[in-house]
Amino acid sequence: MKLLKERILQDGRCYEGGILKVDSFINHQMDPTLMKGIGVEFVRRFAGSNVNKIMTIEASGIAPAIMTGYLLNLPVVFAKKKTPSTMQNILHTQVHSFTKNRTYDVVISKDFLTPDDNVLFVDDFLAYGNAALGILDLVEQAGANLVGMGFIIEKGFQDGRKVLEERGVRVEALATITDLSNCKISIKND
Ligand code: 5GP
Repeated sequence: MKLLKERILQDGRCYEGGILKVDSFINHQMDPTLMKGIGVEFVRRFAGSNVNKIMTIEASGIAPAIMTGYLLNLPVVFAKKKTPSTMQNILHTQVHSFTKNRTYDVVISKDFLTPDDNVLFVDDFLAYGNAALGILDLVEQAGANLVGMGFIIEKGFQDGRKVLEERGVRVEALATITDLSNCKISIKND
């Protein structure tokens, strides 16, 4: 997605340890016009599939997921990183975050992820694929069907895509970062 790649090169910042910061337009302050374009691109890429629910994980996946769900007129559900005391019928899994160096519980209510669901998972970043594998686990526990996963940014030098494709998941990424070494952002031309 040309506009997204240009924006990453213009406003993205690179940190030690291969971390890309995009908090002026995706992760903290958000650009709704760009986010709408991201939703349009996910709709285009998954056109013709039988998706009936958009799923994401809080917090940064919610913006692209709601745009995609709005455009497709489909419900959007997000997995939570804290279990509300009032939540019932819970499915849970664990996700390890390399960026935060901790493992956390992720939950979703069975009321909103069911065997009738054909799920498109949308998130901000694909790195090692741990968050995505947690989602896959929740989808499988619910007896739902995963149609595919769409990421705004893929870190192509980490293993996420490989891990997911080995599990038979269709992966789409709107911008693939090929290198962040020496704090220079390189993006795949596709
Ligand atoms: P994974 O589970 O695929 O290793 O990492 C995915 C999650 O880690 C994303 O949802 C995102 O929150 C975070 N993440 C991984 N790498 C980066 C990065 O370079 N920049 C930012 N902002 N978040 C990242």
